Amino acid sequence: MNRAIVRKVVTTVHTWKFPKKAFSNDAAAGVYSADSVQRNNVEDKLCTTTKMDEYDVAIVGGGMVGMALACALSSMPLTKHLNVAIIDSNPALGRRDCIKKDDLPDSRVSTVTPATISFFKDVGAWEYVQQHRHAYFDKMQVWDYTGLGYTRYNARDVGKEILGCVVENKVLHSSLLSCLEQGADFQKTIYPSRLSSMTLQSCSPSKETGFSPSATTLYNRGRLAKLDLSDGKSLYAKLVVGADGGKSRVRELAGIKTTGWSYPQNAVICTVEHDVENKCAWQRFLPSGPIALLPMGDKFSNIVWSMKPKESSEHKSMNEDDFVKAVNKALDYDYGPRPRSSFMGNNGDGFSWLTAALTSSANEHFEVPPKAVKLVSERMAFPLSLMHANDYASNRVVLIGDAAHTVHPLAGQGVNLGFEDAFSLSKVISDGIAVGSDIGEVSLLKKYEAERKPANIMMTAILDGFQKAYSRDFGPLNILRAAAFHGAQYIAPVKRNIIAYASGEQKWPLFS
Ligand SMILES: Cc1cc2nc3c(=O)[nH]c(=O)nc-3n(C[C@H](O)[C@H](O)[C@H](O)COP(=O)(O)OP(=O)(O)OC[C@H]3O[C@@H](n4cnc5c(N)ncnc54)[C@H](O)[C@@H]3O)c2cc1C
Repeated sequence: MNRAIVRKVVTTVHTWKFPKKAFSNDAAAGVYSADSVQRNNVEDKLCTTTKMDEYDVAIVGGGMVGMALACALSSMPLTKHLNVAIIDSNPALGRRDCIKKDDLPDSRVSTVTPATISFFKDVGAWEYVQQHRHAYFDKMQVWDYTGLGYTRYNARDVGKEILGCVVENKVLHSSLLSCLEQGADFQKTIYPSRLSSMTLQSCSPSKETGFSPSATTLYNRGRLAKLDLSDGKSLYAKLVVGADGGKSRVRELAGIKTTGWSYPQNAVICTVEHDVENKCAWQRFLPSGPIALLPMGDKFSNIVWSMKPKESSEHKSMNEDDFVKAVNKALDYDYGPRPRSSFMGNNGDGFSWLTAALTSSANEHFEVPPKAVKLVSERMAFPLSLMHANDYASNRVVLIGDAAHTVHPLAGQGVNLGFEDAFSLSKVISDGIAVGSDIGEVSLLKKYEAERKPANIMMTAILDGFQKAYSRDFGPLNILRAAAFHGAQYIAPVKRNIIAYASGEQKWPLFS
């Protein structure tokens, strides 16, 4: 990512539009409790102080990507004065979650790339991640059930110290929230509600009246979008950002069509414990889908296991000991043998014409992942699908994160793409402000689309190709996969390009 974000200076001035107290645990419990009287009182404090409920930007969806956009806007000189509304009924936005480092880890985690880590550092959120459990990893091993090949990646192959970091989603989210709370000039209002409807009038030429027009007048002239929320409140914004996930209401209301399909797979996720610390990210492709074992720090690892929906129900409900046994079998000897270290000759002799400068991991032998000894979290199952919005931008509306694209989790890229969207959009808004543009103008928003759409389509297509190629047990395809593993293991330029692309540091998987 191109770094244009200026690191923020933390000041003591607090400019949230609601009393800070409302974000303390006790007050927040009231906001989101079943006690509707108390809830309404606090909500009123949260939302009614804004001038005319008129905003520069309304971010619908305060998940990881929506919050990342808010942080990016609060960090840049030309955008930090914007008046921003964040709309989301997720209770995590309304309370300071007290996450303790020694709590058992959550089952929802993300593998974040070096590019995402740089982004978090630039906006000032990484320092909060570091206060919680997180696990950097510098090695990764990928293989499949046929035993015909494997690839080991090492950060040293590209002269780096790490390949990525595994962080619980709640830690990423609360770190962005903490970062936002430190913003000095940034004006933001959180609406603990959901978007119900959105209306836009077509643009009409403005008549100079000599006084500043009301929000209703600007709305009637097509200069503001009107958002109606599920709690009956309404607000106006120059720009509406749909960061509201795969089933985006913003996308639907803007009439933006999508392309995609469901995979015949669910992902079962959970946390397991080992006897030793796991320091490597492991992924084995099985006929019904990949299983990943991701280091989480201490002696914990996260499991992301894609399988047929029927199998996922069985694996969710089987007793814990049987589940742990199934995990260990899936990561070692189930379906097929362990790969031999040199299927095509020692140190890739079969590729000697291309391996003049072997990467350091080319000589690493296949290793067996550490055994899981205990299940330490609930098991959750997620249906998997591919979805891509045909447009990312229309008049006064723009989509980021899962609202614009959802991908298979096999390479842990989904939220990383979303963070890149957030960064790119914040820069486009800043560039627009610099030249006096209306930030809701579709011609400006299309610049963001032009930057992110090709990159997201490329990653979506690659992940879809992997999903298809690795979920078929077919002789010739098995041989091709083995060749791909060996190519990635021994051909240095291929390996370096794969690492750079998966790290988010290179836009296209081209040879350099
Ligand atoms: C099993 C699994 C494993 C994964 N692992 C990884 C990984 O390792 N690395 C990675 O990069 N990605 C991973 N992903 C993908 C990642 O989880 C998603 O890309 C990410 O959560 C998307 O974030 P988001 O903020 O765009 O959307 P969401 O997380 O879906 O957040 C959307 C927000 O919008 C709010 N919302 C929805 N509708 C409305 C409305 N009408 N009004 C107001 N608010 C609304 C919701 O409450 C929510 O807070 C994984 C996904 C799965 C399923």
